[in-house]
Amino acid sequence: MIDIQNHIGGGAVESLSDERQDVLNPATGECIATVPIGVAADVDRAVEAAQRAWKDWADTPALERSGCLSRLADLIDRNADELAAAETDNNGKPLALAREFEVPRAAANFRFFAGAILHSSSESYDLGEQGMNYTLRRPRGVAGCISPWNLPLYLFTWKVAPALATGNTVVAKPSEVTPLSAYMLGELALESGIPPGVFNIVHGHGNTVGARIVEHPDVPTITFTGGTRTGAHIASVAGAMFKRTSLELGGKNPIIICEDADLEAAMPTVVRACFQNSGQICTCGSRILVHRERLKAFMARFLDAVQSLKVGDPRLPETDLGPLVSLDHREAVEKAIERARAEGATVACGGDRPEGLPSHIRNGAFLNPTVLMGLDQDTCTNQEEIFGPVVTVQGFDTHGEAVTRANAVPYGLACSIWTNDITRGHRMASMVESGMTWVNSWMMRDLRTPFGGMKQSGVGREGGQEALRFFTEPRSITIGY
Ligand code: NDP
Repeated sequence: MIDIQNHIGGGAVESLSDERQDVLNPATGECIATVPIGVAADVDRAVEAAQRAWKDWADTPALERSGCLSRLADLIDRNADELAAAETDNNGKPLALAREFEVPRAAANFRFFAGAILHSSSESYDLGEQGMNYTLRRPRGVAGCISPWNLPLYLFTWKVAPALATGNTVVAKPSEVTPLSAYMLGELALESGIPPGVFNIVHGHGNTVGARIVEHPDVPTITFTGGTRTGAHIASVAGAMFKRTSLELGGKNPIIICEDADLEAAMPTVVRACFQNSGQICTCGSRILVHRERLKAFMARFLDAVQSLKVGDPRLPETDLGPLVSLDHREAVEKAIERARAEGATVACGGDRPEGLPSHIRNGAFLNPTVLMGLDQDTCTNQEEIFGPVVTVQGFDTHGEAVTRANAVPYGLACSIWTNDITRGHRMASMVESGMTWVNSWMMRDLRTPFGGMKQSGVGREGGQEALRFFTEPRSITIGY
């Protein structure tokens, strides 16, 4: 059993609080670690360390910073089996998903930004005989990085990597529900040669540790991924302090199946888009809109595919869905299913817990993939994020109706459209209010592309140039001849 420590000033540091919380394996219920429930003073310590380290790190040549990040990426690769096992034991995700998708992506996050800073440039303008202008882009100081439990290492590194690459120092807080991989990353960061104080991690609750990062006067940059309500609170505090914020929040993502979609080709991706990581990915589809001409054919194939998904021990290679992240979260999802029933939903499949699980995981937070039908667009079920293995299916008659329904939610994060008519695909993609739209695909990611949502799904974009700009301050300098 591991006693997780904060990572401050280049090493493991005891929290100033004596309080600890058990870190649970949601499949077995077993306690796999304890995590300190830090206090504001822990954050203050980390910010002090990050501030002390900032000037040197900001002045470190890009090639050297890049080298540190590349070495960290290599170390993640070298420790991928241990990191993947930690993600599975802490979050409940299938081991294959952690090993083949999430941990490699954490390494790619560092590798990508290690390369990006070597190839980025800033503008300059020729002002003719009068002179010239150029833009200096300098790091902003200490960046506060706050991330959730659903893709622990993947999202944590998606924030930390561009912040460090651009010469900022970091004080980061992972979710205290899933702190294990972030703790392991802190140890690897030391080995990579990232100087002490450049990368700090404080564990604890959002309303103490997270809140102190957001309100600390010496943390001018806040990047947050989490729920929309938390994001609104952070925006109100950080906005009043004129901090720069990037908020990646919730979604209620539509999947649109047009009448000419190739259902057979679409099915594996559509099922993955709904149920990967038990639907606990912000880009997962949660409302499937199907052209009425194909509704029957779609449902036959879809239910067949969903019912053949294997729910069980996330350590086994044949498992498609592990448990949800915690018993509490399963209870919240079950309440949402109950509410859907009260709203008149027909449960086409799932809605219950799997039976006959082996004894070691019998008390885990498992839930069957659930498909709901017969709900209007304005029901709570079709409006509010559930963040679990639950999707609704609705029919539509015209493409205009599909787009109107797709947009009739407060969110605008991700959308997936399935059609064999290329013009229709482009046109619908341009009309859907969504930060990211995939046509005939889902979660096809290139780290150069902007990632983020509109409406209540967030403010700002991560990835590529967007991230390099977010973490740097442009200073326009004009020279008169
Ligand atoms: P929360 O908003 O509850 O928490 C996210 C993180 O913020 C956690 O580390 C949390 O700490 C912390 N936090 C909570 N309150 C505060 C506060 N007042 N000040 C600062 N930090 C705080 O979200 P969940 O962890 O429940 O994550 C799930 C949510 O994340 C879903 O709604 C999902 O849609 C969204 N998400 C969005 C993504 C996107 O890119 N748009 C990607 C993935 C998830 P603690 O754990 O202690 O509460």
